Amino acid sequence: MNLDTDRHRVLPGIVPDLDAIPADDTGGLEKSAARKELRRLLARLDELQVMMYAQGKHSLLVVLQAMDAGGKDSTIRAVFGPLNPQGVQVTGFKAPSSLELKHDYLWRVHDQCPPRGTIRVFNRSHYEDVLVVRVKSLVPEERWRRRYEQINDFERLVHDEGTTIVKLYLHITKDYQLERFRRRLARPDKHWKFNPNDLVERARWGDYRSAFEEALGRCSKMHAPWYVIPAERRWYRNLLVTRILVDTLEGLNMSYPKPDFDVEQIVLE
Ligand code: ATP
Ligand code: MG
Repeated sequence: MNLDTDRHRVLPGIVPDLDAIPADDTGGLEKSAARKELRRLLARLDELQVMMYAQGKHSLLVVLQAMDAGGKDSTIRAVFGPLNPQGVQVTGFKAPSSLELKHDYLWRVHDQCPPRGTIRVFNRSHYEDVLVVRVKSLVPEERWRRRYEQINDFERLVHDEGTTIVKLYLHITKDYQLERFRRRLARPDKHWKFNPNDLVERARWGDYRSAFEEALGRCSKMHAPWYVIPAERRWYRNLLVTRILVDTLEGLNMSYPKPDFDVEQIVLE
C-alpha cells in the first residue's frame, strides 16, 4: 500500500502552520483497504514488540499529544490494545501533584521512561510544560521559554541511552472538537469523558495552536521526530500511526537473541 508517512513528519527547525494542514486527510486511501492493511501492520507490530522484549536492548517511547477530544485514548486502544500487555505500558500525565511541583518538571517524566525491552506510551507528556503551562502562564515566560532546549537535551539523553522516541500530535480542527463534545454530551456513557473545564481550554484554541506550532517546530529532531497526524478520520489515523511505529522499529534492525546453549544438545523426552 502506498502510504507516505514522511510528509507528516515535522522537519527540524520548520514551524508548521497547523491551520494549513488538513485534519481530515486520508492520503487518498480507501477505508476498506486501509482496514485490511492495518490488521497486517498490527500483526507486524506485535512481532516487533516480541523481538524487542526478547532482545532487551532497545526501548520505544511514544509521546501522544492532542487537544481535548483529539482521540488519544482511542488511538492507544486501537494501536497498542492488540499488543502483549507484558511489554507495553501507558502513562497518563495530569496536572502535577504537590510533590511533583516540588521537583523540576522532568522529574516525573524521566521516572516513567521505558526500560529496555519495553514500549511506553505517554498520554500527554512533558510537552504540557510548554503547552498548558504556557497558555495559562503557570510559570513566568522566561522559564517556559528555556524549556524547549531543556526538552531537546533531555530527549537527546534518553535517545542516546537506547530509547527510540516518536512523538505524535493528533491534529483536529476546532469544529471537529465541537462535534465530538456534542456527541459526548448526547451519550450518558460518555459524560465521564467531558469536563466543563474543557470549554475553558477550547476558548483558548488559538493560543494552544501557537503553543503547539512552536513546540513541534522547535522540538522535532531527526532522532526524536514530531509527526502531525490528521486525526479526524480515525481509520487513517490508526493506519498512519501503526505504519510509523512499524517503520521505526524495523529501522532498529532487531533480532532475536542467540541462545546461550547448544540447541542440538538439548534432549527433550
Ligand atoms: P485527557 O483530557 O487527556 O483525555 P482526562 O480527561 O482523563 O485526560 P484530565 O483531568 O483532563 O484527564 O487530565 C489532563 C489535564 O492535566 C489536562 O488539562 C492537562 O492540561 C493537565 N496537565 C497535564 N500536565 C500538566 C502540567 N505539567 N501542568 C499543568 N497541567 C497539566
Ligand atoms: Mg480531559
